[in-house]
Amino acid sequence: MKVLKFGGTSVGSARRIEHVADLVCKSLERNIVVLSAMSGTTNSLVEISEYLYKGNVPGAQETINALEGKYIATLSELFPDEKTRNQAASAIGRSFALLRSYCGAPLTAAGEKEILAQGELMSTAMMQCLLTSRKIKSVLLPALDYMRTLDNGEPDMPHITSHLRRLIDLDPEAQVFLTQGYICRNDHGGVDNLKRGGSDYTASIIGAVLDAEEIQIWTDIDGMHNNDPRYVDGTSPVRQLHFEEAAELAYFGAKILHPSCVLPAKLHNIPVRLLNTMDPHAPGTLICNASPDGTIKAIAAKDGITAIKIKSGRMLLAYGFLHKVFETFENHRTSIDMIATSEVGVTVTIDDDSRLAAIVDDLKHFGTVTVDTDMVIICVVGDLEWHNCGFEARVLEALAGIPVRMISYGGSNYNISVVVQAGDKVAALRALSDRLFNGK
Ligand code: ASP
Ligand code: MG
Repeated sequence: MKVLKFGGTSVGSARRIEHVADLVCKSLERNIVVLSAMSGTTNSLVEISEYLYKGNVPGAQETINALEGKYIATLSELFPDEKTRNQAASAIGRSFALLRSYCGAPLTAAGEKEILAQGELMSTAMMQCLLTSRKIKSVLLPALDYMRTLDNGEPDMPHITSHLRRLIDLDPEAQVFLTQGYICRNDHGGVDNLKRGGSDYTASIIGAVLDAEEIQIWTDIDGMHNNDPRYVDGTSPVRQLHFEEAAELAYFGAKILHPSCVLPAKLHNIPVRLLNTMDPHAPGTLICNASPDGTIKAIAAKDGITAIKIKSGRMLLAYGFLHKVFETFENHRTSIDMIATSEVGVTVTIDDDSRLAAIVDDLKHFGTVTVDTDMVIICVVGDLEWHNCGFEARVLEALAGIPVRMISYGGSNYNISVVVQAGDKVAALRALSDRLFNGK
């Protein structure tokens, strides 16, 4: 059994939904198909919630109407046959009725979660009607009946395993299973979600709990590229990555895979394959627990970084200083991405600056604090085990003309990261590709 996840753009129009159905129908081996909302839908649902929080009912209604128009148009393209179209329309209609039911009263957090869940519910409803019209026996596994998180937000793996297995075993005749990505229930039983982009995470959790043969993440780019194609010409897909390399890349900015997606697959050793719906026979990228040695695989950048330096004479020969610094970030529930230390100071980076002022106030008790905003982490990933000579030198050589704020190497066997100003990002990405991949 395989898990196949199709993202928002892969189901972004009637044509694309049909194409996904074609791909799904190619191997009817009781695979599990995870669908995201049609592209743009979750953004519209967020917009509707924002209008409702502000009490702007006409704004919300207008967005609901526009979204509904898009779905109705999709249905008429997808289902020329009136009977099937009506079936699909009644499922879609339930979602729009629910959205409209929230227009009467002030929105609560629970209501917002329910609104956000509608996109994935509509995708699976449409796909099921389409597969039925093609005489395929598909069975819907409602994510809200098995996907659950604990009070710390982590997936409740025993619950998910037992509930999902039971649902699958109920239908021995099913040729394919459909389920919603992203949505889940929380520990109170309320409708919730796995955060934006969370459908990859759903696929990985399902693959892990069912011990799947493979988790396939279908997008519309040919695997993970060795640099960001939006900024660098001539990038190429990486054929194989270690789980650790993929985790670093996903976390540090490679948009193709959700960062949390790697962990469940890695823990259960389920290979993840990134595939392209536009070119289904292309090999894509395989992520597993092995990868070619002695090579640099890829470069990624993460924007919106703030670097905070704490300098103190008291750090010299003292113990407990770093503990106090880290504790400050913990108290503000802000996670640290990168660290560089010297005997008299430490610099850390964060990507969530919502508590920055309060953090800086607290850190001032321990030393002089300097903040650099609008920075970027550039992460070079590959077999960077420290005995391999020369890779870190080549990275720094490439960046010879660019001011580097901070460097981190040796934290894992898989990456070297540097922090530069946002304005130098593109130059840094290009210089690294030239030096590391293009032999310049
Ligand atoms: N539909 C959700 C989002 O747009 C989840 C996903 O696409 O993975 O964030
Ligand atoms: Mg997505």
